[in-house]
Amino acid sequence: METINTFDALVAGAGLSGLTAAYVMAKSGMKVAVVERGAHPGAKNVMGGVLYCQPTEQVFPEFAREAPLERCIVQQNLWVLSETGALQTGVKNQAWNKQYPNGFTVLRAKFDKWLSQKVIEAGALIIPETNVTDVIMENNTVIGLRTDRENGDLYAKMVIASDGVHSLVARKAGLKEEWKNNQLSLTVKEIIVLSRKQIEDRFHLTQDEGATIECVGDATNGLMGVAFIYTNKDTLSVGAGTLLSEMIRARKNPNDLLEHFKTHPCIAPLLEGGKTHEYLAHLIPEGGYHAVPKVYKAGLLLTGDAAGLVNSFHREGSNLAIMSGKIAAETALEACQRGDFSETFLSLYKKKLDESCIMKDLKKYANAGSFFEKRNHFFTLYPNTAVQSATEWLTVDSVPKRLKQWKIIRSLVRIRPFFGLLSDGIGALRKML
Ligand SMILES: Cc1cc2nc3c(=O)[nH]c(=O)nc-3n(C[C@H](O)[C@H](O)[C@H](O)COP(=O)(O)OP(=O)(O)OC[C@H]3O[C@@H](n4cnc5c(N)ncnc54)[C@H](O)[C@@H]3O)c2cc1C
Repeated sequence: METINTFDALVAGAGLSGLTAAYVMAKSGMKVAVVERGAHPGAKNVMGGVLYCQPTEQVFPEFAREAPLERCIVQQNLWVLSETGALQTGVKNQAWNKQYPNGFTVLRAKFDKWLSQKVIEAGALIIPETNVTDVIMENNTVIGLRTDRENGDLYAKMVIASDGVHSLVARKAGLKEEWKNNQLSLTVKEIIVLSRKQIEDRFHLTQDEGATIECVGDATNGLMGVAFIYTNKDTLSVGAGTLLSEMIRARKNPNDLLEHFKTHPCIAPLLEGGKTHEYLAHLIPEGGYHAVPKVYKAGLLLTGDAAGLVNSFHREGSNLAIMSGKIAAETALEACQRGDFSETFLSLYKKKLDESCIMKDLKKYANAGSFFEKRNHFFTLYPNTAVQSATEWLTVDSVPKRLKQWKIIRSLVRIRPFFGLLSDGIGALRKML
C-alpha cells in the first residue's frame, strides 16, 4: 500500500518530552505535528513540581529569563515524620540562587503553554483537543497515528510517543503492557493559596526564593511513598503519593493520605489560612530500571513517562522527559537524513539513553524499590524511632547522657533484633550507593 508522508515526524502528546522533541526536530527543519488531547498544552498536565535548569537550558537556553517560573529553589528539605514530630534535615545554599539556579517551581498549565509557543515559533504544528486512538502500521512499521477527528489519520516517516504514563501508542504498538500496581505511584496534589508574605515568612525565604519539603514516615501514614510541599509565588503545591499496590494493601485512598498529611502538627501551621484553589490526581511510573520497556520499534520511539523514565529517589521526571525528548529528536533527525526508519537503526536511541545519565541513574537504583517495598518498617518503625531517639537525646531532664545513649540503643534493639538492624542498614546502603 502506498502512503503519503504528510509529516517527517508526528509526536503524540504535548507534555515536556513531546514538546521538547517537536522543538528540536522543527528547529532542524523537519516538518512536525504534535497531537494533544487537552484544550491546550498543559491543560491536562500535573507536576509537583520542580523543573531543573541544566537539562532545560540545553534545549531552551533562554528559559530562565523568559518562561513563567514560580520560585528559584534555594532550600531542599527532607523531614522524617512520626505521629507527633519530625526529624528535619535539609540544605539551604545561595549556590542555587537566581544567578546560578538549580531548579524552579513551575505550574505546568502556565509553563507548558509557554513551551508550546516556542514549538510553534520553531515551525511545528500543534493539534489540540485531539485524542490519539491508535497507531497506523504497515509491515510491522509505525507509519502514522489515528485520531478521534473526522478523517483524522495522520501519516509520517517517524512517530514519537510522548503520551505520558498510560501511553496508548506504546501499548497499541506492542511495546508495553499495562504497568503493575507496584510500578505506579498515585499522587494527589492541591494548590493552596497564601499571600507571598505568608509564604516567605513561614518558609524563611526572601523574594522569589523557594523551598521544597519532602516528608516520609507518618506523612504517608507509614506507606512507601512521599508527601511534599513546594513553594510557588503565591501558592503552595501540597501533595502525597504512594505506590498503588501499597494503597490497595492498606485499603487507603489518596485523598485520606493527603488530609492526614495536611493535619500533621508539623505541617498544619505551614498551611494555616490557605484556600484550596485546585485539586489534581495523577499516576507516576515508578518501576525504575527493570520496568523500562523496549523504547523503539521500526518508525517509533518512546520518551519520558511513556518509557517509564522517572527517578523517584531523586524526584526527577521532568528532566528525564526533556532529555529523552531531545535524544529522540536527534535520533529521528539522523533517521530522516539517512532515510532509515528500521528497528535496527532506531535502536541507536536506546544506546544513547544507556550512555546518558538517564539510564545510568535508573540502573544505580535498579533494586532499591523492591528492597524497600519488602521492608515496610522503614516507613513505620524507623521514622517513629528516629524522632523519639532524637527527642530523647535532646531532652534535658537530669538523666546522664550515657544512660540516654543506652536507652536509645535498647529501644532500637527492642523494635528490631540486632541482626535485623544490621542487615537493614547494610542492605539499604548497598541498594542506594
Ligand atoms: C504530582 C506529580 C509531581 C511531580 N513532581 C515532579 C517534580 O517535582 N520534578 C520532576 O522532575 N518531576 C516531577 N513529576 C514527574 C514529571 O511530571 C513527569 O515525569 C513529566 O511530566 C513527564 O513528561 P512527559 O512529557 O513524558 O509526560 P506528560 O507531561 O504527562 O505529558 C503527556 C502528554 O500527552 C497527552 N496525551 C496523553 N494521552 C494522549 C492521547 N491518547 N492523545 C493525545 N494526547 C495524549 C497528555 O494530555 C499530556 O499533555 C511529578 C509528577 C506528578 C504526577
